[in-house]
Amino acid sequence: MDYAFDHAQHDRAAHLRKDDAWRAADVDTRVLVIGGEHVATVGGQGLRWVTMSEAPEGDWIFLGIKHDVRYAAVVVQTVAPELEPVSLRVLGPSITPDEASLAVHAVGIARWHQIHRHCARCGSVTNIVEAGHQRLCPVCGAHHFPRTDPAVIMLITDDQDRAVLGRQPSWPEGRFSTLAGFVEPGETLDDAVRREVMEEVGLQVGEVEYAGSQPWPFPSSLMLGFFGKALTSDITVDQDEIAEAHWFTREEVTEMTASSELLLPPNVSISRWLLQQWHGGTIHGTWA
Ligand SMILES: [Zn+2]
Repeated sequence: MDYAFDHAQHDRAAHLRKDDAWRAADVDTRVLVIGGEHVATVGGQGLRWVTMSEAPEGDWIFLGIKHDVRYAAVVVQTVAPELEPVSLRVLGPSITPDEASLAVHAVGIARWHQIHRHCARCGSVTNIVEAGHQRLCPVCGAHHFPRTDPAVIMLITDDQDRAVLGRQPSWPEGRFSTLAGFVEPGETLDDAVRREVMEEVGLQVGEVEYAGSQPWPFPSSLMLGFFGKALTSDITVDQDEIAEAHWFTREEVTEMTASSELLLPPNVSISRWLLQQWHGGTIHGTWA
């Protein structure tokens, strides 16, 4: 797989989270400064790592170890302008997979802390424990864990091996992507794929095959990619989530992306990767 955020995971070294054990060792730790989805950068291109003594006041997250180096993040309200903050969403394509795995971990947890300060059970303000990976309620004792919301994203093909792509109402003409949606409680992933495709474009889906996943911490999704086979071919668009959807052959994708009639998702996305796997040839350009 060659989409970003894959196959470059750091060792999360969870055994060092308790009692701030990760801080105790006499080792250099590289620190990423984060505010919301904005991270410190060097010239807006790569991540900027500072030492622990250079880092501003904030909430600490221990990220783990990569190539014998320890990594942490410090979460602040707003990243200072001299640290050249950029949204990870924008920065994504220009950083290495190594850096991406650290950055999505850090931003995912930072955003969770930002909006989960109070206990969901009793409403008290909770404390950060486990090096940023839990919040503990001092009043009722409840443990709260960072949330990850599973979402399915699927490339659906028909018996002629055409792919169905949809355009969301807010997107400009010509911009299309694979279908996607959140998994609901009590639902298997396969059923979520079938339900979302039925809701969005009215197609019945049979066989579903898992293809790979991508963390998407804006704010807390895990995108689970699938290939699926449609049992029907008549598209009925649900005007709420999808403005238009069509079947595309490989030749149409090749020609229409070359002429910019069709704009597909950026290279870092799992959507693009699913499309590329199906297409097998050159797909031109992106909407980014
Ligand atoms: Zn509580």
